[in-house]
Amino acid sequence: MKIRLTRFFLFCFIWPLVFPSAGFCAAGKIKIVATSSTLASIAEEITDRKADIYFIAAPKRDIHFIAPTPKDVMKLKEADVFIHAGLDLEAWRDPLLNAVGRLDFMWPAGEKQIDVSKGISLLEVPETLSRAQGDIHVYGNPHYWMDPENAKIIARNIAEKLAALYPEDQEWFLRNAETFSRKIDGRLASWSREMVPYHGSPVVVYHASWSYFAERFGLVIAGELELKPGIPPAPKHISELVASMKEKHVRVIITEPYRERRTPDRIAKETGARVLTLTQSVGAFKEAQDYLSMLDYDLTKVAEGVKAGRETP
Ligand SMILES: [Zn+2]
Repeated sequence: MKIRLTRFFLFCFIWPLVFPSAGFCAAGKIKIVATSSTLASIAEEITDRKADIYFIAAPKRDIHFIAPTPKDVMKLKEADVFIHAGLDLEAWRDPLLNAVGRLDFMWPAGEKQIDVSKGISLLEVPETLSRAQGDIHVYGNPHYWMDPENAKIIARNIAEKLAALYPEDQEWFLRNAETFSRKIDGRLASWSREMVPYHGSPVVVYHASWSYFAERFGLVIAGELELKPGIPPAPKHISELVASMKEKHVRVIITEPYRERRTPDRIAKETGARVLTLTQSVGAFKEAQDYLSMLDYDLTKVAEGVKAGRETP
């Protein structure tokens, strides 16, 4: 025991004095599990080396439909904090938590879970809560992190809850959230300027996951391939969509890496539109390794797509 305590003292107190970049006791890192790579990336900005962060949904998978693995269950059982998107984005969240058996991670009352949707102004909130016809956005559109203003709210939610759970590091978390917000403000100003020429451009999306992004950057969602969120494209709906795209001169279809390409490619062929594969998940592409570079990637692709569409007769 004496040897163990001596080692602990050396690693936790002497080591950081010699190497200030260590800054804290590695053994004392907070164990965080996040549902997505994007929430994990924002949590990384806030905790900055004070946490080991694990995420469940691989960046190229549909966050709505994940089959958690035994490793995910094990990680959650051992975690200190659970970060998730709230609402019904992660349809697998509650069954997973039931399997894990952690009441303190259960939504909405668990004291060690962080629902980052707190304080977000939701879009497309239905008048009645119903999963009729398989709708998977029953509380409103849950893809809110694609508006950088909402990423600031997410960061603050994470920082405030961590500050409450770990008051000794309160200043660290809150200051990092401020720094992240300032970085977003800086980039948002330039993104908004760069998108001005494309304001009002109509785009069609595969799934209703781009509403916040479109609203922030002045794009108009002119239709969805899915009949309702989560309901696959149906022939009648697609033929109506094609007619409407031709009429409105829609030249961009936005999809994600995990969706089938046959339908968007067929529509593109019939309408002269381009199919853009964008991402909402940090790490899905090598150019999108954190929140800011992910937005950069998506906005650059959209601007190029809309511009090319305009130049095509
Ligand atoms: Zn969705």
